[in-house]
Amino acid sequence: PLTRVGFIGLGVMGEPMASNIAASGTFDLALFDVDTARAAELAARLGVSAVADIAGLADRDVIVTMLPTSAIVRGALLDDTGRPRIPAAPGTVFVDMSSSDPLETVETGRLLAEAGYALVDAPVSGARERAMTGTLAIMLGADDDAAAERAIPVIDTMSSRIFRTGGLGTGDTMKALNNFVAAAAFTAASEALIAGQDFGLDPAVMTEIFNASTGQSFVTTHVLPDHVVGGAYGSGFALPLFTKDVRIAQRVQQAANRSAPVCDAVTGAMGDALEALGNVDHTHAFEFWRDR
Ligand code: NAD
Repeated sequence: PLTRVGFIGLGVMGEPMASNIAASGTFDLALFDVDTARAAELAARLGVSAVADIAGLADRDVIVTMLPTSAIVRGALLDDTGRPRIPAAPGTVFVDMSSSDPLETVETGRLLAEAGYALVDAPVSGARERAMTGTLAIMLGADDDAAAERAIPVIDTMSSRIFRTGGLGTGDTMKALNNFVAAAAFTAASEALIAGQDFGLDPAVMTEIFNASTGQSFVTTHVLPDHVVGGAYGSGFALPLFTKDVRIAQRVQQAANRSAPVCDAVTGAMGDALEALGNVDHTHAFEFWRDR
């Protein structure tokens, strides 16, 4: 029989990731989202099943979460007393692919382990476009090699670029630090564009020059031309989620007793934009910094 996989969280990223599990044809897939209409619509489109209650995933062997935050992952999987909401068989492997806080992931893993379940963290990078093409970078942390081995065939349908980072939480730590670097590039490039404009430089020409020069990064090749200079502001990555990630990176560095002046500045700049703008695409932060 096919391995039974459950997938929780069918948003910007979860929808294409679950679609790639279905497209592999090698798993029996069941979907859940608090937006039950979204789950039912996607299940019908993919020819898989959907459950209207999360406990309906009790017959699953591997359960993936792709949810906004650690708090939501925990609230989805555990009740207020820390007991699992899904009465799955012992040995079931949970795979949290959200960009979670590693300290909270370790705590959720401990509570799941008390009930006989394994948790691995497997956050992803590459945004919706690479989720669709199955070319995400995936960072896999696991304390238990046997659990990692059970998760890998499922993860592999979403991308073969899987990096085994170490114990539980190391994937989340790596993801938060990656997004800190990406956010630093975004805030720095935005600041530079705004200053350049003040001196009469054309932002489109500046972007072209960054990309021919050493200031080049994913931000200058993709984010600026497609979403900022082009004015589309539709990267698909929400400002609250990006800000959450730099805050996780800040906490991780605090937990290691490191001073982190760049991370503090980036977190402050993004936090100011979030406070002013709320739940918008993160690229709108450029307009906020420019017009402030
Ligand atoms: P999203 O907000 O588009 O999707 C979240 C989904 O979870 C929604 O469908 C929502 O209805 C559902 N949901 C919320 N609470 C739930 C609950 N309690 N039970 C079941 N379903 C619930 O978010 P996204 O952009 O897909 O991001 C998901 C995670 O991936 C985040 O941690 C984010 O930081 C990370 N991430 C996002 C991107 C990106 O470019 N968007 C890239 C890499 C990683």
